[in-house]
Amino acid sequence: MRSFAFSSAENIEQAVSAQSDNAGEGAYIAGGTTLIDLVKLDVMRPAQVIDLNGLPLKEVEQLDDGRLRIGALVSNTDLAHHPLVTEHYPLLSQALLSGASTQLRNMATTAGNIMQRTRCPYFRDVAAACNKREPGSGCDALEGVNRMHALLGTSEHCIATHPSDMCVAMAALGATLTLEGPNGSREIAFGDFHRLPMDRPDLEHELEPDELITHITLDTPVVGGGSHYIKLRDRASYEFALASAAAVVAIEDGVIRDARLALGGVATKPWHAVEAEQALTGQPASNESFEEAAEIALAEAVSREHNAFKAPLARQAIVRALKHATQAAMNS
Ligand SMILES: Cc1cc2nc3c(=O)[nH]c(=O)nc-3n(C[C@H](O)[C@H](O)[C@H](O)COP(=O)(O)OP(=O)(O)OC[C@H]3O[C@@H](n4cnc5c(N)ncnc54)[C@H](O)[C@@H]3O)c2cc1C
Ligand code: SF4
Repeated sequence: MRSFAFSSAENIEQAVSAQSDNAGEGAYIAGGTTLIDLVKLDVMRPAQVIDLNGLPLKEVEQLDDGRLRIGALVSNTDLAHHPLVTEHYPLLSQALLSGASTQLRNMATTAGNIMQRTRCPYFRDVAAACNKREPGSGCDALEGVNRMHALLGTSEHCIATHPSDMCVAMAALGATLTLEGPNGSREIAFGDFHRLPMDRPDLEHELEPDELITHITLDTPVVGGGSHYIKLRDRASYEFALASAAAVVAIEDGVIRDARLALGGVATKPWHAVEAEQALTGQPASNESFEEAAEIALAEAVSREHNAFKAPLARQAIVRALKHATQAAMNS
């Protein structure tokens, strides 16, 4: 492990200016569950580590317009069990509790989860070729062991998945990120935050090197909506998704009035299945409609040697998530 300077920010301005002073070569640390691993593996090499834990960003509050504002440092555990989340956004709670382990969720923060890096084994191995870690070096996953890799949003430069469960729920629910930089704050829609790899897989998101995520604000909940998160994986806990689906539906007289759908484990970013949502709206809440939506969601899937099995898996996840969400809507 390389040595680095360490500082603790006492307020948001200090955190931002510490990054500016480092010309973006520093790294914020929140829970440390991604960063420390990657520093030990020599994948991330920050000149300075800036501790955020003293910042006043640990609150969850309902805004006057009904949206929910989450501080960047709220832990995954506190968020999953917060009464406003379990009551109004059970999908988010379910997704969070399907991730990692209790100990990791106690440390992991909301912003850290959004910023977590891919679990592609070649990214984490400095001896391998990886365009994300070392731009222009190639991608060993393309012809390598790519069983865990993505089908949607890939490019010939990178096929790594975004590993988060929480982000899949946020993609379905709709959210806005608040970013603080040297010139003040700005907002960005959650769906626009993560980038597709295209020819620059190293550029993963829209955060500038000297910006800080301060809050995540969830859209108002879908009125009368039922929801469900399903995660399919190699073992029942402490494992990343092979395929996951987050669904919210509102039903009126047996017809889908509103549908939200997002996928995880199969895409290079938290995947908002917009066309499938549109196809569901106005259709009967039936198996046929759900299967049709699943076909649409995976229509652009491109598989590699070892990951073709993920497409039928993701379709099943979608159908099951929609069925359970419909049941929840009927019972609400
Ligand atoms: C063994 C293991 C299993 C896991 N399983 C799962 C799983 O099943 N599902 C899942 O979703 N996740 C899983 N994770 C990932 C885990 O959820 C993330 O590591 C965690 O959410 C990261 O949060 P953190 O606060 O620890 O981030 P940190 O490690 O502190 O930071 C991560 C990155 O975010 C940046 N950052 C942190 N806060 C901010 C901020 N406010 N503004 C800007 N940048 C910031 C840091 O600079 C760093 O680059 C697993 C992790 C491990 C180690
Ligand atoms: S899939 Fe992406 S992260 Fe994995 S080796 Fe290729 S470029 Fe690197």
